[in-house]
Amino acid sequence: MIGVQILMYHQVGDFSPMATHRATYCDFRRFRRQMAYLKFRGYRVLRMSEALQCLRGEMAIPPRAVMLTFDDAYENFYEYAFPILQKHGFPAMVYAISGMLGQPASWLAADNHPTPPLMSGARLRQLRSAGIDIGSHSVSHIRLAEQSDERIREEVIRSKLELEDCLGEQVDHFCYPYGSYDSRVVEMVAEAGYLSATTCERAPLTAADNPLMMPRKAVSWGDSLVGLLWKMHFKNKPKSKLHPVQCAV
Ligand SMILES: [Zn+2]
Repeated sequence: MIGVQILMYHQVGDFSPMATHRATYCDFRRFRRQMAYLKFRGYRVLRMSEALQCLRGEMAIPPRAVMLTFDDAYENFYEYAFPILQKHGFPAMVYAISGMLGQPASWLAADNHPTPPLMSGARLRQLRSAGIDIGSHSVSHIRLAEQSDERIREEVIRSKLELEDCLGEQVDHFCYPYGSYDSRVVEMVAEAGYLSATTCERAPLTAADNPLMMPRKAVSWGDSLVGLLWKMHFKNKPKSKLHPVQCAV
């Protein structure tokens, strides 16, 4: 396995089978098996700061390197994923939407979808003090590539400041909502001072990658352990800067 496999999760919990947004759900029993497998097989779960060291050439990418990311900061992360991560001592990155902390994930209502609660600022602080990394996922969860320069700036800069205010520390990492980005967005994310940004391009992270366009692989509702391993080892799409792969949410 070459490179770092950055896995993208959204909701982890106990769900009835759903018709849409399947790529954003993971049954907690499956998640438990996935994490136990990574532990058992000696996968090295990296923090974002370590992945950046790899990109800067300060550290070789370890064999079987994986990263765990959780978009939108759903409250079910705390209830279901966090205890499993803690049990194994795995680091993780949670991307929070600064203007929606403690509120329902209202953008899902547009698809007639349930709108589960997002974590509050207090919950994020609690997780941060337990070693979970927190990054920004914009202020209001919109497709950045479709916005004016002014709006993009506001989303990337304001979310950084608001989360820094909430956490009392620097927020260095960004995640593009819906995987929507273009060269303007990347430039503004750089100007805002972020050190990394993740996309939905399906590929492993290699030492040659731009830290502001990190690829990831979504773990879907239908992914058994075998499915996950297949995705990790074989399912790669050529990276495209011009036509980014869009995420469901
Ligand atoms: Zn999102």
